[in-house]
Amino acid sequence: ARLTAPGQLFEMEDVGGGVRAWKHAPATFRALLENSAFHGGKEFVVYEDERLTYAEHFRLAATLAHRLADSLGVRKGDRVAIAMRNYPEWIVAFSATLAIGAVAVPLNAWWTRRELEYGLSDSGATLLIADGERAAKLAGIDIPMIVTRSSGSPGADWHEVLGEISPDVVLPPADIRPEDPATIFYTSGTTGHPKGALGSHRNLAQAPMTVAYAMTRGVALAGRDPGESLKQRRITLLTVPLFHATGCFAVLLTTMFSGNGLILMYKWNPEAALRLIEREKITVLSGVPTNAWQLLSHPSLDSYDISTLSGVSYGGAPAPPKLLERLTELLPGRTPSNGYGMTETTALAIYNSGRSYLARPGSVGLPLPVVDVRICEPTGAELPRGQVGELCLRGPIVIMGYWNRPDATAETIVGGWLHTGDLARVDDEGFVYIVDRAKDMVIRGGENVYCAEVEAALFEHPAIDDAAVIGIPDDELGEQVGAIVKLRSPATQEELQAFLKESLAPFKIPVRIWFHESDLPRNPGGKILKTRLRQQVLGT
Ligand code: ATP
Ligand code: MG
Repeated sequence: ARLTAPGQLFEMEDVGGGVRAWKHAPATFRALLENSAFHGGKEFVVYEDERLTYAEHFRLAATLAHRLADSLGVRKGDRVAIAMRNYPEWIVAFSATLAIGAVAVPLNAWWTRRELEYGLSDSGATLLIADGERAAKLAGIDIPMIVTRSSGSPGADWHEVLGEISPDVVLPPADIRPEDPATIFYTSGTTGHPKGALGSHRNLAQAPMTVAYAMTRGVALAGRDPGESLKQRRITLLTVPLFHATGCFAVLLTTMFSGNGLILMYKWNPEAALRLIEREKITVLSGVPTNAWQLLSHPSLDSYDISTLSGVSYGGAPAPPKLLERLTELLPGRTPSNGYGMTETTALAIYNSGRSYLARPGSVGLPLPVVDVRICEPTGAELPRGQVGELCLRGPIVIMGYWNRPDATAETIVGGWLHTGDLARVDDEGFVYIVDRAKDMVIRGGENVYCAEVEAALFEHPAIDDAAVIGIPDDELGEQVGAIVKLRSPATQEELQAFLKESLAPFKIPVRIWFHESDLPRNPGGKILKTRLRQQVLGT
């Protein structure tokens, strides 16, 4: 049967033998969603003891799409904000919004009321779909709300809005083109105020294909047969929020695209992750390097059966080579992968995996096929191979721009090239090495010190549990190098400095090391908040 009402862009035809296929499926999220319905009774999403098949998800999304379009008056291009933890409803709300051509605006669930208000007003959202906690934070706000998992919060009840779910519901008609806006994702806010990255339907349709390519290549590089491996069901543990690019684009969309399974967690917790890997026979752990690091450091690592785990992939922040070393030592035989991406590149853009990663532990790998890479001077001029400069990227995964910020867009995307703000070099074989964020780099008396390099050296010391390197303002040298560390066993500043002297030039050694008792402050995506740390230790 036809999934979409007649006369739409999405049409199916008989291709013989009773098989129906897309006549033309444009590069839109809707094509992905309709395609995912073919996976029918296969399990798509698991949250605690709730399980959703592909067919169930499609029916919920299509029903909500009707309610949004018919009862709530949501039109193409309208912004619908989603503010929740990683619940299955997040995915349903996202799917329904995009399926009618409205723009999904995922808001950070950790935000305070003021920050949530900023996201709502910045995006001009006309409807909010929230969980009970977010709805309670926003009590009294002047915007229609649909609320799930709440006990008596204001707003319309999720189940009441959905009403009856018809078994053969199809999506309401919509005319969506690849160049239409699909999402506004706020960047992580690591370097400043989060910016709204406007993604198109083409960006979203491209992302999972790019990731699928990377994964197949990763399997081949790990010495396994990609054909065999693709036949096996992939069950991914999502350790990062859906409201960030990695969680949504690299993990959710890829899972959906390939008909595999996704296990959600309310909040990252290494012990809960171990329990879930055993219970759900998880095959891939996907998140930020900290997730893998904490899992490997967990005292109960050996008490769980995690033999199904075949891959550990991470990205979004620098991965110290020590992490790869520990991974191969403690979980031998698993394919390690490191991916580089940004909100502005619809997640994954550069990828290193398997034997290629083991041979170059400091590299984020090769650009994916649709991505062009260039290393530039601040003026935009291209630098010769091997030199360190700003990483610039081009391709169909680069966002349309920043929402309502033409100046920021014009500064960041120049002639189709996205200026990442990251310093990198490319070796003779084309492998990319991220050396630091341009904003994090410490310039000590005219000498560049890359924080990521000093952090990686610190991680080599057995007493280090976590580390962040920052610049300390200095009258004479401009900046000095400082470090903030969390220890797992006792160590002194002098000991750590002496240790670093074995691998780093003297000007890179932190002159001051602060010992942090609690965990270093991280955003919900797991990234260290250096701005906050600088504030804590320097008061600036
Ligand atoms: P904001 O732009 O709001 O300051 P952010 O840059 O952290 O925050 P994201 O888009 O989530 O927001 O992150 C992209 C950045 O993460 C990249 O620019 C890069 O600095 C870093 N990054 C991503 N992947 C890797 C990786 N594999 N290795 C090193 N750094 C990475
Ligand atoms: Mg950024």
